[in-house]
Amino acid sequence: MIDLHSHTDESDGSLTPKQLVDLAQNISLEAIAITDHDTFAGYDKALPLAQSIGLDLMQGIELNSHAMINGSATARYVHILAYFPLKPPQGEFVSWLSDTRRERSQRNQKLIASLQSNGVDITLAEVEAKGRTLTGRPHFARVLVDKGYAKSLQDAFHRYLGEEAPSYVHRESLTTLETVALVRKSGGIPVVAHPIRLGLERAAERGFLEAAKSAGLLGLEVYHSEHSPELQQYYLHLAGELNLLPTGGSDFHGPSVKPDIDLGTGRGGNVDVPLSFLTGLRQAAARL
Ligand code: AMP
Ligand code: ZN
Ligand code: FE
Ligand code: FE
Repeated sequence: MIDLHSHTDESDGSLTPKQLVDLAQNISLEAIAITDHDTFAGYDKALPLAQSIGLDLMQGIELNSHAMINGSATARYVHILAYFPLKPPQGEFVSWLSDTRRERSQRNQKLIASLQSNGVDITLAEVEAKGRTLTGRPHFARVLVDKGYAKSLQDAFHRYLGEEAPSYVHRESLTTLETVALVRKSGGIPVVAHPIRLGLERAAERGFLEAAKSAGLLGLEVYHSEHSPELQQYYLHLAGELNLLPTGGSDFHGPSVKPDIDLGTGRGGNVDVPLSFLTGLRQAAARL
């Protein structure tokens, strides 16, 4: 069993890179990918540790993008996983990432101001103390819970941080098609993460994936903690029909962030990713 979707505390997970690597070894995973949001810092720290214990670790990242449906930008967010199975990203990808993190910290300043004007007394320093390489809305949510402004992380998103909340502040992102093209240009393998979250009817979803494929999409995340067994079978079939590489992972964030999701096995054992998916990614990367 392998797990191609996991987060460390360098983005919004709760385990350190070392704790994640140790856990993967303890549960006898054959390979993992670290796919933090917008940073390779967790992967970079984990790599020597993984090598020293003989764990196969693949470089990955999870990027936010916005969908263009019928030619217009929508508020629908699409997560793109980018894998680098054989070599690290080439060209401008790494500098683009640091621009993205800079844009994110500007959004965070606006979000603090917006929360304060909505009567929430928290500071950027308090929020940044929860994060490492980057600070995101999940870190805001933890402070809101700690300070009694919200009952749970979900409640914090509902009342203050989510798209429907009055204090919401938008973060700029590329379109999905631009993101896919950027990943390809850097030598990576772009994959649509947890397609269930697109929230599209099957025909529209298929059309969306076909459009992304024309822009260079290479894979589809078929196994994921939020996909039922039936849905996993459907996505496996769809990936075959669209000639997309199947991938999968738990989207593990650590016990204190998502206590119901386990590394490797997902939610209640609903994820079980075969080693052949990783082999497929490596073979595809060798042909690029
Ligand atoms: P950011 O990149 O800082 O805008 O934060 C985005 C992250 O917040 C996502 O990757 C999710 O992990 C989390 N998130 C977004 N919406 C929600 C929600 N409604 N409930 C819980 N977590 C959310
Ligand atoms: Zn996350
Ligand atoms: Fe995601
Ligand atoms: Fe994720």
